[in-house]
Amino acid sequence: MIGNPDKKVVVLQDVLKRKGTKIGFWRKRFVELTNNQIIVYKEQHEGEVYQTFDIFSTTTVECLEEENPPIFIVRNEGNSIGLTLSSESVETVIRWVNEIRNITIQTPGLSMDCFDIISVIGRGFYGKVMLVKKKDTSELFAIKTVHKNLLIESRKVHTIFSERNVLMNTKHPFIVNICFAFQNETKVYLGLEYVPGGELFRHLRTKRRLPIEEVRLYIAELCLAIDYLHSVNVIYRDLKSENVLIDVDGYVKLTDFGLAKTLTPDLKQTDTFCGTNEYLAPEIVFRNPYGPEIDWWAMGILTYELLFGVTPFHDSTKLKIFKGILNEDPKFPDDTDESIKSFISMLLVKEPEKRARFKDIKDHPFFNGINFQDVLDKKFTPLYIPQDVTKV
Ligand code: ADP
Ligand code: MG
Repeated sequence: MIGNPDKKVVVLQDVLKRKGTKIGFWRKRFVELTNNQIIVYKEQHEGEVYQTFDIFSTTTVECLEEENPPIFIVRNEGNSIGLTLSSESVETVIRWVNEIRNITIQTPGLSMDCFDIISVIGRGFYGKVMLVKKKDTSELFAIKTVHKNLLIESRKVHTIFSERNVLMNTKHPFIVNICFAFQNETKVYLGLEYVPGGELFRHLRTKRRLPIEEVRLYIAELCLAIDYLHSVNVIYRDLKSENVLIDVDGYVKLTDFGLAKTLTPDLKQTDTFCGTNEYLAPEIVFRNPYGPEIDWWAMGILTYELLFGVTPFHDSTKLKIFKGILNEDPKFPDDTDESIKSFISMLLVKEPEKRARFKDIKDHPFFNGINFQDVLDKKFTPLYIPQDVTKV
């Protein structure tokens, strides 16, 4: 449970309808949100407690504001039924959802006052990423800030929560680790492990193209990261060289889970048009529902880009890029090795059902017999080791 369990602070009180877990009848209940629990009373306030629901930092809230009446579902890990509540008023539902999310995202006792800002290392649409040093321990972190009002204006409030939730629920050697999160009136802050080697994008730009030996290991590491995400029902949706960082020893760390989508048994595909033009799979361009296969498409685009310095369907306008994605096969320089052509081509198959995925590619000659368990165990030494980086 989060928050101080001894000190109960009441955040909200309302009469809501609670959906029964056995038959599914709705009943009016007095419900209270405290700093660490949702308390459902049988009758009125201070009467007999009907149910308590503990809020953890991993608690998730699903907001179905378009249902009639609007409802929200609060769930804890391992409890997929959760607690389903509704109100006639959509404002009430949204207020509850926001307040519960506020409770879950706060690491107790942390604010920007605990850190010295060293530099700004990245800028995105919703905010910036700063390198900071924690005052009491001198540890370095990358803090990603996101402006709440920009998220609200673009109806993307859920993205920062899903970014944080996906990161909290994943642990993998090639995925950036989240260490804490906090917020104030205007911003949400995500504290990430600092990855000092910069973007793979920048490394590629200084070299123009990367040798196959380097690409093979980067792609193997990323395939393991993506396969792991899919195994926990997450589609990453934003694979590109800007979102791949290089750590102090030269291994990759996938970052930026702002677009990551968690699938559930009821939601096996999704349909939001998002991502970066040159990496979009044909089914997204077509605006069809899509699934995890889109990440393997993007892996094909990225492999091509690392080897040849440009993405295969790059062009001067969005329309031309999309035409290429839908209608053209990637073109390779004349002297390209067969194994490279066949590897990229099996990932860039237009029909998602026929596209290769991890099980189809891990024994492919492109990987030249490397053992994926050894990759995972970091038994290979990367060829490029970042120099002059701030060590943690
Ligand atoms: P956006 O959603 O705006 O693209 P990102 O999460 O991709 O935000 O962060 C923007 C940039 O900040 C990244 O491309 C990278 O250069 C830098 N960055 C992000 N996270 C880290 C990190 N953990 N360590 C070092 N640099 C980072
Ligand atoms: Mg990014």
